[in-house]
Amino acid sequence: MSARPVLRFAPSPNGELHLGHALSALIGFDMAEKLGGRFLLRIEDIDTTRCREEYITHIYEDLAWLGITWEEPVLRQSLHFTTYSAASDWLLKLGLLYPCFATRAEIGEATELFPDAVDPDGAPLYPGLHKHLPKEEIAVRLARNEPFALRLHMDRAIDALEGITGTRHVTFTELDEHGNPQRIEINPADWGDAVIVRKDTPTSYHLAVVVDDGRQGVTHVTRGRDLYAATSLHRLLQTILGLPEPVYHHHRLLTDTDGRKLSKSARDTGLRELRAAGIDALQIRHRLGLPIPATPAQENHP
Ligand code: GLU
Repeated sequence: MSARPVLRFAPSPNGELHLGHALSALIGFDMAEKLGGRFLLRIEDIDTTRCREEYITHIYEDLAWLGITWEEPVLRQSLHFTTYSAASDWLLKLGLLYPCFATRAEIGEATELFPDAVDPDGAPLYPGLHKHLPKEEIAVRLARNEPFALRLHMDRAIDALEGITGTRHVTFTELDEHGNPQRIEINPADWGDAVIVRKDTPTSYHLAVVVDDGRQGVTHVTRGRDLYAATSLHRLLQTILGLPEPVYHHHRLLTDTDGRKLSKSARDTGLRELRAAGIDALQIRHRLGLPIPATPAQENHP
């Protein structure tokens, strides 16, 4: 196995890429270059209703325009559902998942009673509606083919974590923008009984991302600050699934003039629009405040 660092860019093809994606992809690509590492592209298309083939084609075109190269073959998550199911089967066997048949409306109604109970993203915490369903009721609902999600039994998962590491929190290494490491200690319990397998697709982002980072040998996860808090859940799953621990760099986010995170429908920051307007990759780097790579001639004559 190669000892070279492995980095990746992992977009979801449910819309067009914008400047925020360019920032993320370029930060990962530049770090891979700096470390002499490999750079992978992973298409996170688990949401088969929202992801579209044309967005995938556009991702390839936009990244190539930015001067980014990546290794082939590109991993497409929608082709690997059985791999994620193997991981969820294992968690199920350990007694760490339970089926939740509750509808969105039922969950919404129950969470209204606990307005202060929110996860690190500010979303209502799952109030445990179907946590203790009797076996017989589960069997009846399964026989009726009622759709269900699989949720993490967080308290049991933390017990399992303690059994493995001796502690009830997780740790990870966060690199700042200069590459200086800081050890972070964080509590995954704040996520409550998170969905590990969604109702509509045989995995969740959290499960697929840790399984793929593990099997692709990703050593450095570069992604936006919006996913910083999710890292506690990822480290928990990695530890229980026996997957290696990467280091993390959660980079700054680009915001619009109202201070909101850029959205996929924001036309003025869309990479296709910027390309059509004749803007080139160096101008994009300049606009993003990223270093301009030296040309071969400059490298030869410092
Ligand atoms: N697919 C995720 C997104 O587009 C990124 C996942 C990650 O980098 O961990 O937001």
